Amino acid sequence: MTTHLVWLRNDLRVNDNSALWAACRSRHARVIALFIATPAQWRQHNMAPRQAEYIWRSLRQLQQSLAEKGIALHYHQCDDFAAAVSYLQDFCRQQRVDALFYNYQYEFNERERDAAAERLLSQQGVTVQGFDDSVLLPPGSVRTGNNEAYKVFTPFSKAYRKRLRAGLPECLSAPPARTEAPLTALPPLSPFDYPRESFDEQLFPVGEAAALQRLRAFCRQPVLAYPAQRDFPASEGTSRLSVCLATGTLSPRQCLHRLLREQPQALEEGAASIWLNELIWRDFYRHLLVAFPRLCKNQPFAAWTKKVAWQQRPDRFAAWREGKTGYPIVDAAMRQLNATGWMHNRLRMIAASFLIKDLQIDWRSGERYFMSVLIDGDLAANNGGWQWSASTGTDAVPWFRIFNPTTQGERFDAGGEFIRRWLPELAAVPDKAIHHPHDWAKKNHQRLDYPLPIVEHKAAREQTLAIFEAARKAS
Ligand code: FAD
Repeated sequence: MTTHLVWLRNDLRVNDNSALWAACRSRHARVIALFIATPAQWRQHNMAPRQAEYIWRSLRQLQQSLAEKGIALHYHQCDDFAAAVSYLQDFCRQQRVDALFYNYQYEFNERERDAAAERLLSQQGVTVQGFDDSVLLPPGSVRTGNNEAYKVFTPFSKAYRKRLRAGLPECLSAPPARTEAPLTALPPLSPFDYPRESFDEQLFPVGEAAALQRLRAFCRQPVLAYPAQRDFPASEGTSRLSVCLATGTLSPRQCLHRLLREQPQALEEGAASIWLNELIWRDFYRHLLVAFPRLCKNQPFAAWTKKVAWQQRPDRFAAWREGKTGYPIVDAAMRQLNATGWMHNRLRMIAASFLIKDLQIDWRSGERYFMSVLIDGDLAANNGGWQWSASTGTDAVPWFRIFNPTTQGERFDAGGEFIRRWLPELAAVPDKAIHHPHDWAKKNHQRLDYPLPIVEHKAAREQTLAIFEAARKAS
């Protein structure tokens, strides 16, 4: 009997899993699965402890789901990618594996690891097959008329939609069970040797059943209010499916198919089409990682921005990180992040812009910090979001456009509902004054246990314009 091994990584589901489906195609093969945890590598990547915890809890559920299909999920923990490849070789020998199936990851180090695994296993006589699974369309498959990678989102998105209209990527069901009865003696799953931090399962659905349930509910109704609600952090206007997509308890194809089932116009127009655009942004950043691998190596896309003279201000960075900048919307955002592991998209833009363009701190420090706290941390999306905010990216906000953190707060949290949730020290401040609490306190002879603004926005803006201008001139 031949043995097929599925090497699971950020594809923690049995439904619509290309590698698992392919491994199960032959009814006669013995199918087993393996997950290798690499805590040393995770530390190097700044993986948030909450994300590791989410993966571990989802893995436990996946082991059960696979057992019901007659597939044993094995588990091993080692340090880094090199050790993982070496373990994989040993495992294939011990288990007499004939063929390995896995879904691609697009980050540079992951691609190097997979190339090494493929080379060494082929030498060992194992057939290896990889699949594009975490994107709607494979990186490199949608290119400009000049056969180049798209660097600007809008034409990319138009071309993407055209391709999707021409034929949707197939959404696979779970493979049929391979044994009459579920497996019972399951390989042990010990906790990761990684710092542990709990999270709220009501906010972040663990495992694929909960992810699918959240997806169905969102596509049925809330998606219709998405364009009107998505920028207001006080409302539950977005799907909160990012952790599921980042770890693969849900696939983007499942999102697309469910969206079209509930909202058939989504590929063309209307509210649901706006949500689809976000899924396309997600793919855009993945396609960019493959086309421009330097993005994985701390490099800005726009070379001239290497010359920007960032400030070394650990005190200001600490104030930003802790939500103590004196700008209520920025501080509420950072406290939401620190307390839950998630931040609303509008706030990610505001908080990132503040760090970069009010404090003139290198965007890479912010990128690293986000990664170390976000439950949905994802190199492609995080790097894309930071480079967008820093004006260093491909299709980024122009360098001379600088968010005003106070007016952003006034626009997107007018009455301060969100701010109040996270800054109890501003409870006494009336709605009208919530974005200028110190002005109100002074006028009313009140004492506030809340920091004064650490920079004055107008002056900071001028300095930022000057350092970007100088960088442009120098390059
Ligand atoms: P929804 O609005 O419901 O969107 C649906 C899905 O589309 C999301 O779950 C996500 O997978 C994808 N998506 C939405 N917006 C974007 C976007 N701008 N870029 C790429 N994909 C997107 N997203 C991450 O998943 N991981 C990150 O580490 C991350 N870091 C970010 C850092 C910065 C500075 C910025 C500005 C954005 C970042 N984003 C990141 C993108 C976005 O903020 C989150 O995907 C979104 O807030 C997740 O909430 P949601 O699931 O409710 O999104």
